[in-house]
Amino acid sequence: RQAYVNGRYQPHSDAAVHIEDRGYQFADGVYEVVPVYNGILVDEDLHFDRLDRSLAELQIEEPMSRPALKLVARELMRRNGLSNGFVYMQVTRGVAPRDHKFPKDSRPALVLTTRQMKPHSPQVLAEGLKVITVTDQRWDRCDIKSVSLLPNVLGKQAAAEAGAYEAWQVDGDGMVTEGTSTNAWIVTGDNKVVTRDATHSILNGITRITLLELIKAEGYSLEERSFSVAEAQEAREAFLTSSTSFVLPVTQLDGKPIGNGHPGILTGKLRHHYMDYMQTLRKS
Ligand code: PLP
Repeated sequence: RQAYVNGRYQPHSDAAVHIEDRGYQFADGVYEVVPVYNGILVDEDLHFDRLDRSLAELQIEEPMSRPALKLVARELMRRNGLSNGFVYMQVTRGVAPRDHKFPKDSRPALVLTTRQMKPHSPQVLAEGLKVITVTDQRWDRCDIKSVSLLPNVLGKQAAAEAGAYEAWQVDGDGMVTEGTSTNAWIVTGDNKVVTRDATHSILNGITRITLLELIKAEGYSLEERSFSVAEAQEAREAFLTSSTSFVLPVTQLDGKPIGNGHPGILTGKLRHHYMDYMQTLRKS
């Protein structure tokens, strides 16, 4: 298995960055996770758009042109025989003597890795996932896909310790923002699909964006708004989305079963719509 590090393909096991990389010292960088499904990079332009936006918000230069980056991603997939899984890309402000302010003449550093993933287990799809809630301790710019992920790490660890898969983060008003690495959704008693509106409080997931389009195309009713923990616990269905989860049912929130405690019917339909959508994508 190989990784791409600043212009070179290297064995993954000894690929390394400099000790004064600002990503390492300050979490001064951004990343993307692009899903690969049957050999195809899913919604890659949306991911590259979001990468460009994250970089621009932090005034980090683009490490290379989009066509060049697309070639590197494909070459790494080829070398690693990647068919299903994801490509991870990280860009930091680069290497410079440690000093908080932006260095004058650093070059952005670029790393790409890939990971093969198995399909989601039938058990997860049949039973759904447990989710806990934690206080959202993050900053005011969760729309930037920054590698500064400590609150997300602590949230996911708390979930794991509670025997859950994910932690939904709750803001000061008692409203769910999103998971630590996924967007959060509910289905109300009158079959409205609800997910938080994409402000600075959440990362606007690419899976979220595509699923919203599919929901609109299918004519399901939809509300982009905040929802509380209580509303989620009383909801008919719940689910989460991300580039590695696609659409996965949530059947328990803080120990309370959601709906009848089984994966929701609409959730199942939406997962199918999303999987069908990925099947229609062609290599470019
Ligand atoms: N929210 C957060 C905080 C995330 O880290 C992620 C993905 O890693 C998502 C949502 C889902 O985004 P996407 O669908 O682009 O994977």
